[in-house]
Amino acid sequence: MVYKIWHSRVFKAAGIFFCAALPFFLAGCATAPKMPEETISSPPANSGNAALDWSASGFGQKPAVKTNQPVVTHPNRPPAVLPKPAPVLTWTSLKRWTAEQKIDSPHFLSGTPLTTYAVSSIKGTMILAIGSLEAAWNGVEINLGFEPQLIDDQIFLHELDLEKNLEPLLCGPPLTFGTNRVIVIDPGHGGMNSGTHSVLDGRLEKEFTLDWAERLKPLLETNGWTVFLTRTSDTYVTNASRVVFAGAHHADLFISLHFNSAAPDQTAAGLETYCFTPTGMPSTVTRGYADPWTEKLSSNDFDAQNLQLAMKLQGALLHAIGMEDRGVRHVRYIEVLRGQKCPAVLIEGGYLSNPAEAEKIESAAYRQKLAEAVAAALK
Ligand SMILES: [Zn+2]
Repeated sequence: MVYKIWHSRVFKAAGIFFCAALPFFLAGCATAPKMPEETISSPPANSGNAALDWSASGFGQKPAVKTNQPVVTHPNRPPAVLPKPAPVLTWTSLKRWTAEQKIDSPHFLSGTPLTTYAVSSIKGTMILAIGSLEAAWNGVEINLGFEPQLIDDQIFLHELDLEKNLEPLLCGPPLTFGTNRVIVIDPGHGGMNSGTHSVLDGRLEKEFTLDWAERLKPLLETNGWTVFLTRTSDTYVTNASRVVFAGAHHADLFISLHFNSAAPDQTAAGLETYCFTPTGMPSTVTRGYADPWTEKLSSNDFDAQNLQLAMKLQGALLHAIGMEDRGVRHVRYIEVLRGQKCPAVLIEGGYLSNPAEAEKIESAAYRQKLAEAVAAALK
């Protein structure tokens, strides 16, 4: 889609600028409690209480999920349909939040065609645009739950985006991997569940995911990980039992490996990484499945680590293979991410429905690069 491509370019160009300029904007993140109300900056003269949090049932609407998603290629069953509550939306000025976190105030970047801001800490720079779910963290796309709003010339973000998307990256403790360093690698599909297939010659996704996992295993072991694969041959394994398998092996991390398809469209391209949606937030992608915002699973105990892991892997893969960035996305419908007892993500390593990408995926050298990128990110 033209808009998305153009928009991403703006974000990434801006991200490059701010990464280059980062030393000028560095600031630590506060671990102290929130600052008292009286220390909050005064609102603009014409703005009433604009600098204060405000809540409003029904302010704005649930952001429309992207409708240009590829067809489902995973045989995940939809979660049980729960009644969808009316969202109670609470918004906070980004300026106030950065003051509470003791980092620099947001910087206005551009007023056209989207009003864009950057916010930086010692860990990196987030670029945000008014009215857009797409943001960029150190040049890698991340999808917000709610579109930033411009209120009295200030950028406001939903409190869940601040807590679940900005704080872990800008101010959160670094991602750690536990003392056991046990990782479960999940080669997608297998047996009668073939996944998608190459547009070039019909070779099956399940073959490529297993090969990726088998290349990754020794690299991780060299780095001190104990590695378990959910399958080591062309066998059928249910998605639910892959989650049980990770719990039974006391995994510190779970990474599911897949390749994508948008057939019959041959133009969709790029990499994407999925993690479980925080409670109260709409998913980036639903693909027609229920998306119960109020659902809280054990997966949600790792919201911050899920995001940190996803961003780290997506960034490492993009750096290694230079494909289009389709971003880190929040989902509830992917069954292998549901009910995990450790940080868990799913990587889509390119499109088998795109001839150029299928050619790469069919090459052992490309799959080795994918494996090396994942291993490097987890060193
Ligand atoms: Zn798949």
